[in-house]
Amino acid sequence: MTGQTTLKFRCPVCRKGVQREAEDFPFCSARCRIIDLGRWASEDYRIAGEPVSQSEQQPGDESY
Ligand SMILES: [Zn+2]
Repeated sequence: MTGQTTLKFRCPVCRKGVQREAEDFPFCSARCRIIDLGRWASEDYRIAGEPVSQSEQQPGDESY
């Protein structure tokens, strides 16, 4: 028995076990990834009380 640590991660959306090397880590699937994205989007909607000018791009946000 080698001490292979199989750390179990959980999909933040459906709580299913996710392999670290999963393609959509930390999500179990692309579907859950999209669902999570949608959640963040709706969170933004909830805070939409007063308009905040945050449209400025942060410096150093370069995509590799
Ligand atoms: Zn999931």
